Amino acid sequence: MEKKQFQAESKRMLEMMINSIYTHKEIFLRELISNSSDAVDKLYYKSLSENIGLSRGDFEINISIAKDARVLTIFDNGIGMGKDELEQNLGIIAKSGSLQFKNDVLGAKDDKNANDLNDLSVIGQFGVGFYSAFMVSSNVEVISKAYGSDKAYLWSSSGVDGYTIEPCECDFEYGTKITLFIKENTDDEDYDEFLAEYKIKSLVSKYSDYIRYPIKMECSKRVPKSGSDEDNPQFEEVKEILTLNSMIPIWKKSKSELSDDDYNEFYKSKFHDFNAPIAHVHSKTEGAATYSALMFIPQKAPYDFYTKEYEKGLQLYSSGVMIMEKCADLLPDHFSFVKGLVDSDDLSLNISREMLQHDRQLKVMSKAIERSIKNELKKMQSTDREKYAEFWGCFGTQIKFGIYNSFGAAREMLQDLLMFYSSSEEKLITLSEYVSRMKESQKEIYFASGGSVARISALPQVETVKDKGFEILYLTDNVDEFCLQMLNAYEEKPFKSIQSADLDLETDEEKQEIKAKNDDNKAMFEFMKEALGDKVSFVRLSQKLKSHPVCISGSGALSVEMEKVLAAMPTDGQNRAKADKVLEINASHPIFDKLTFLFDNDKETLKLYSDILYNQALLIEGVNIDDPSDFVKNMSEILSR
Ligand code: ADP
Repeated sequence: MEKKQFQAESKRMLEMMINSIYTHKEIFLRELISNSSDAVDKLYYKSLSENIGLSRGDFEINISIAKDARVLTIFDNGIGMGKDELEQNLGIIAKSGSLQFKNDVLGAKDDKNANDLNDLSVIGQFGVGFYSAFMVSSNVEVISKAYGSDKAYLWSSSGVDGYTIEPCECDFEYGTKITLFIKENTDDEDYDEFLAEYKIKSLVSKYSDYIRYPIKMECSKRVPKSGSDEDNPQFEEVKEILTLNSMIPIWKKSKSELSDDDYNEFYKSKFHDFNAPIAHVHSKTEGAATYSALMFIPQKAPYDFYTKEYEKGLQLYSSGVMIMEKCADLLPDHFSFVKGLVDSDDLSLNISREMLQHDRQLKVMSKAIERSIKNELKKMQSTDREKYAEFWGCFGTQIKFGIYNSFGAAREMLQDLLMFYSSSEEKLITLSEYVSRMKESQKEIYFASGGSVARISALPQVETVKDKGFEILYLTDNVDEFCLQMLNAYEEKPFKSIQSADLDLETDEEKQEIKAKNDDNKAMFEFMKEALGDKVSFVRLSQKLKSHPVCISGSGALSVEMEKVLAAMPTDGQNRAKADKVLEINASHPIFDKLTFLFDNDKETLKLYSDILYNQALLIEGVNIDDPSDFVKNMSEILSR
């Protein structure tokens, strides 16, 4: 029979699983049980909506151990899989490009060796799922029969070298049986324990207690032999089938009964995450809508979070029955990173997606959910800044996009969650903290934009504004300036870029002085503007420079930084929006005297100087210069004179 190859990424994933030095190999069981529970959920939902005559009591998940054969089996009478589904679901990680993406991000971020097979943070981004079976098994067989089909198939694999699928017989009507051939012990690893009854029992109660279908296993029990002497009893082993889980959904329990550990373990098993969540929100509400909601903020952004593939949404339950895997309407886009579920008694089981969109209850719920997520984040921001900064690093961009994409409508909800790097505090601060420190005379919130904190610190304008004692917010994310433009002001204090031409920081005296100097040199500046053509709107002297000879400022609504962001976006290459630029020259820099000398004596050289100074200003601003070869030619010409 032909052996099929795993898709490249699945293969990498498998390698990671097989070679994993992860000490928590035991989580494989939680992953497989969770898959079984999902499969049963699907069939139960189908039975309720299509009336196929199955009831809740008909469903179960069954675990059995054959110690000598080193086999552990997990069976569920859920929806099952056909041949194509086996191929699709177990042969391919559906998320194409994901691993590459993750490697790029890791590589770029901290230059860590992203290819390290044991880098668990990499696996953590995927959700571990079915492949975790290979952490403990040398061979995995899946027999599955889709509900309503009369054909069963066997999927089999011993790891990276591929898998086979073939028709087979099976002893059940529908569902999935997963057979794990448990690895032999090694010097470092005890795999035998996964064949021990007590271990399986304890794993189920640790990770899968909440599963709402019985997880049954035949267990041995020592009982006194019938008829044996009461004072001196003889014992015998009998088998009995036990249900290993309590089946009470965690979200139905009261908060006081639950520890952080309970929440964390539930999250990890339910949402297939290696990492515990950074926070959870558990709310029960009665009134306009009666529901329980349990939501989690992940510690890390999923690998596909900032891609089109990412699907937001909360699981939606109606009185304990899952009716939708990802209900997008329950979550606003700006909180799309939240994972969780909502269980309501008010929703009909048969409600369709279309009907849900207009459902009043759902709207009430989603508003309340949005508020409780925000409150949790605000709480974290004020009580645990370090944790919040970690959160912000992962999901801050999404919140800023939220303000931008809603054209400011989400301002009230989101503006207090924003954080930017502060020039004076040298860490992230909130807008409210900035405003509370503003000088009495200060009317505006100053910010500067650039690719990184280091680049912004080196901007010519920053030096002067800092010297005057003002705090500056450093905007390093592409979306930052667009977001602030949408907000327009915070607590009635407008935002002001220190890279804009009309930054008004001079005293009246300084203004007079600079105006006189500008007037005196009007002809020279007009000549320089003429030489630069439409690259700049005008050239003038400035007081905002200290040690640098020149800088570029923006004079319109579109800043130089925004032009840079737009230029990096994929378009058909036409009609790129351009910022109106002003070339500003430091009145106290020796270069200014040189320019006036050239204007009087050598206008051709002044043209070259204009071009070089303009390009220098662009470079320090982090903007690509229009024509590098022209720039280099002009530089060489000046150097060789
Ligand atoms: P995930 O559960 O995160 O989607 P997995 O790798 O664990 O990823 O599983 C892939 C898919 O295989 C599941 O989404 C599901 O469609 C299918 N699957 C896995 N186990 C079962 C099962 N016991 N019964 C039916 N389908 C299953």
